[in-house]
Amino acid sequence: MKKAPFYARGLRFSCTRCSSCCRYEAGFVFLSRKDAEVLAKELKLEYTAFVKTFCRWVPVPGGVQLSLKEKADFDCIFWENGCKVYGSRPLQCRSFPFWESIVLSETGWKDLDCPGKDRGTLHSPDVIESYLGQRREEPVFRKET
Ligand code: SF4
Repeated sequence: MKKAPFYARGLRFSCTRCSSCCRYEAGFVFLSRKDAEVLAKELKLEYTAFVKTFCRWVPVPGGVQLSLKEKADFDCIFWENGCKVYGSRPLQCRSFPFWESIVLSETGWKDLDCPGKDRGTLHSPDVIESYLGQRREEPVFRKET
C-alpha cells in the first residue's frame, strides 16, 4: 500500500509579496528550455540573444544548468519594483513552494522559511502534484560537460 504523502490533506500557502524569492540573497532561477523560449518571445528577442543577455550557465556535477542572471545586489535580473515578466515567469517561480525539495518530506515543509507558508489558500494534493508533474515534464535545461 503506497503511503499517502504528508500533504494528503493539502497545504496552505498564500504569497505575502515579501519579494524574498526574487531579491536580497544570491541564488539561482533555473530555467527549462520552454521557460527560456517563452521569455525570449515575451521580450521579442531571438532565443540566443535572450540567453546571452539574461542568462548564465551554472556549473553543477557533470555539467551546467541554465539560470537567470542576477544584479549586483542579488535582485533577479527581472526585478524592477516587481517582476517585469510576471505573466511569463519561469516554472521555478510559478510553482514555489511546491518544489520536490520542499514537499517530498514534512521536514522540508517545516524547514521552509517563508511568511506565506501555512496561511491562506488551501492547495489540494492534486494541485501540488500537478506542479511536481510539470517539473518532471519540463526539467531544468542542462548540458553535459
Ligand atoms: S522571474 Fe520574476 S518572479 Fe521569478 S525571481 Fe525573477 S523577478 Fe522573481
